[in-house]
Amino acid sequence: MFFVFCVVILPTIVLLILLLVSKQKTDDEMESTEPMEVCAFCQNDFPINQLVEKEVGTYGKIYCFCEECVEKLYNEFKENTGIKTGE
Ligand SMILES: [Zn+2]
Repeated sequence: MFFVFCVVILPTIVLLILLLVSKQKTDDEMESTEPMEVCAFCQNDFPINQLVEKEVGTYGKIYCFCEECVEKLYNEFKENTGIKTGE
């Protein structure tokens, strides 16, 4: 009986524990996703890797801008200045 316990039940328990641990790990990884940051223009949350960080002004305050807002600003700049950017 002890032999059966060692050969069948013990590995099963170890396997279950390993599965549980690996599942917990993936859950942790899911929770610790990219840190979110707010776009200074539209105030929407974005993952930090989708934002451009810029130091603004002499106080060195860092603002983040999303792609959409940068594009909008860029288009506004083009319209206001009439500068052709060769597109
Ligand atoms: Zn934005």
